[in-house]
Amino acid sequence: MIATQAAVVHENGGEFVIQDVTLDDPGFGEVLVRNIATGVCHSDMFVQGGMVDMPRVLGHEGAGVIEALGPGVNTLKVGDKVIMGFNSCGTCNNCLSGKPYSCESFLLLNMFGRRLDGSTNITAADGSAVSGNFFGQSSFARHSIANVRNVVKLPDSIPDKLHKIMGPFGCGILTGAGTVINALRVRPASSIVVFGGGGVGLAGAMAALASGATTVIVVDLNDDRLALAKTLGATHTFNGADANLKEKIIEATGGGAHYAMDTTGNMKVVRLSNDILRIGGTTALVGLSVPGTPVELDHMGMLDGRNIIGVVEGAAVPQVFIPELIDLYHAGKFPFDKMVKEYPFADINMAFHDSHVGTTVKGVVVF
Ligand SMILES: [Zn+2]
Ligand SMILES: [Zn+2]
Repeated sequence: MIATQAAVVHENGGEFVIQDVTLDDPGFGEVLVRNIATGVCHSDMFVQGGMVDMPRVLGHEGAGVIEALGPGVNTLKVGDKVIMGFNSCGTCNNCLSGKPYSCESFLLLNMFGRRLDGSTNITAADGSAVSGNFFGQSSFARHSIANVRNVVKLPDSIPDKLHKIMGPFGCGILTGAGTVINALRVRPASSIVVFGGGGVGLAGAMAALASGATTVIVVDLNDDRLALAKTLGATHTFNGADANLKEKIIEATGGGAHYAMDTTGNMKVVRLSNDILRIGGTTALVGLSVPGTPVELDHMGMLDGRNIIGVVEGAAVPQVFIPELIDLYHAGKFPFDKMVKEYPFADINMAFHDSHVGTTVKGVVVF
């Protein structure tokens, strides 16, 4: 048993309460990670509002150092610097086909707070069970139990200053950049419109620039985020409230975009993201909505050859893709650090508030 502290949510939509908890010792194929920092992601807020048994520990963009190994772990060692991404089973058809992001047990392993056998790995001071295991980590805590499958080892040479802001490579940044590079496969000299200038959208915009796209448009309601998009290299920014938004995008892209990416989960924006494509273009849907939400599209517009795809976790194998993103960063083509703001653990509720209202693009809580 490991005594540690976690930020626990006790009711749907409730604030985080930092309290003492104990973690189980790492089980077969698991490791104990001492977290140095963790990112704040939109899906934490989404799940903060429901879906998992209470009380629970969220957090799924952890960065830390391996402190102990469970039985059967021989690919990691104590002291390894790591970040944590999503978990996958490794044995289903999709995992075996190199698509862990489409794991048939994805929801069970990442969202519901339990191991596959139904057990939890976090206990409150009064002995009651706390839902953990969120994305195989529940990293809003000073320690996490993670699985070898969702741990990505970083080079020993990575400086702490960089390591602690790299947790978002485990989800938000992976999602944005992976959607552009792995799913849309953005080509040089192409055009892309990114709807939503949060961490996912701006990671997508940076990845599009790194891929050689020459027209990169970011749309958001927040002018500060649009200004940041410009400093990251976006060629155009438009406020989503602009009455002539569609016409302006069509004009800026010379008749429609090759690619679009929706990170908002707003159905009007989803429709627009498909309407602004040129024939043969593709929209990638990334933003969450409430399950069962219908979307209306222009049928004839799609029949002309406008495509729409859904993408989970950037269609990325984290252990392969994250080192590639780090290389892009070192090459000066992925300046993700410009969108990160750090908060002490005690201010986790403020980090969420600032992310929610949009004054912070990518919050990182530091332990
Ligand atoms: Zn699987
Ligand atoms: Zn996420």
